[in-house]
Amino acid sequence: MITASHAARLSPPGSDWRTLWREGVTDARELLALVGLEHLADGLPAGDAGFGVRVPRGFITRMRRGDARDPLLLQVLPQLAETRQVAGFSNDAVGDMAARSAQGVLHKYEGRALLIASGSCAINCRYCFRRHFPYGDEMAAAGQWRKALDHVRQDSSISELILSGGDPLSLATAKLEELSSGLETVPHVTRLRIHTRLPVVLPERVDDSLVDWLAGLPLQKVVVLHANHANEFDASVDAACARLRDAGVTLLNQSVLLHGVNDETDTLVALSERLFEAGVLPYYLHQLDRVQGSAHFEVDDASALALVEAVRHRLPGYLVPKLVREVGGEASKRPL
Ligand SMILES: *Cc1c(COP(=O)(O)O)cnc(C)c1O
Ligand code: SF4
Repeated sequence: MITASHAARLSPPGSDWRTLWREGVTDARELLALVGLEHLADGLPAGDAGFGVRVPRGFITRMRRGDARDPLLLQVLPQLAETRQVAGFSNDAVGDMAARSAQGVLHKYEGRALLIASGSCAINCRYCFRRHFPYGDEMAAAGQWRKALDHVRQDSSISELILSGGDPLSLATAKLEELSSGLETVPHVTRLRIHTRLPVVLPERVDDSLVDWLAGLPLQKVVVLHANHANEFDASVDAACARLRDAGVTLLNQSVLLHGVNDETDTLVALSERLFEAGVLPYYLHQLDRVQGSAHFEVDDASALALVEAVRHRLPGYLVPKLVREVGGEASKRPL
């Protein structure tokens, strides 16, 4: 039961991001109560289907109350369908996840090295491969980024460093500063790219210290957000995006095509238009990684292609994301 006195003890939006992170909802019943769906609690899978609930309260305020099909709620609420074993869906969908996490550096594509900077996220997305990899808190970031920096320093073909995860912006800004000072002696790296969902799900993360750090970097900067539905945006997310752009960051977005969340032409069109309103260009639309527990989100390739084709008819080319799938061992994402 969420009592008024409990709610009153929570920090208001705009508070320090770490406080808001800690106050995120981790109980499926509380989540349902907050959106007026407490009557659905009996249908929850036991033990959250093996992947804990985590969702910032600000993200919950963007859900429609009383709507069990709300596209934001569906991304974070455990479903009974997750407990079904489905052929073709594995615990290691992208092939080398275990190896990734041990080393923290992934250098699969030419010119780009990807660091698993951190295993933490402020939100647990039900479709994510992370559900099978309870990473520690620090990965490539461990030990002043020493291993990662050594790898990048030794290979002058690397011009772009990608921070991924988990969510790299879950690290303290001071930790990110350690990396950028290490990069000062690596002249062949000219671009820094950050893959993060935090500006969308916890926009307070885009605070003064983060903005100052980004603005001061002598590199080209790209932030690739992750939003799947236009409703994920509100004024607080717009403000975070504006601050990132003011710091000289190019903003892109990647989405995952998810049945029941965004697999309709109107929804994808609205997402692209809303992204552009926030100063963000759509980049990739990913076909789902086939991880165990996510099969109910899958959209077949023929439907996915038809959807993107329909979007192409409705929007300028720069608002049409590239439909791709990640296939282990290939030299790039595979276009569909
Ligand atoms: C997705 C990915 C990249 C980035 O690919 P782009 O097509 O440049 O966005 C880089 N390295 C790895 C290992 C990746 O999975
Ligand atoms: S924010 Fe990204 S990495 Fe984290 S759970 Fe969601 S999809 Fe996975």
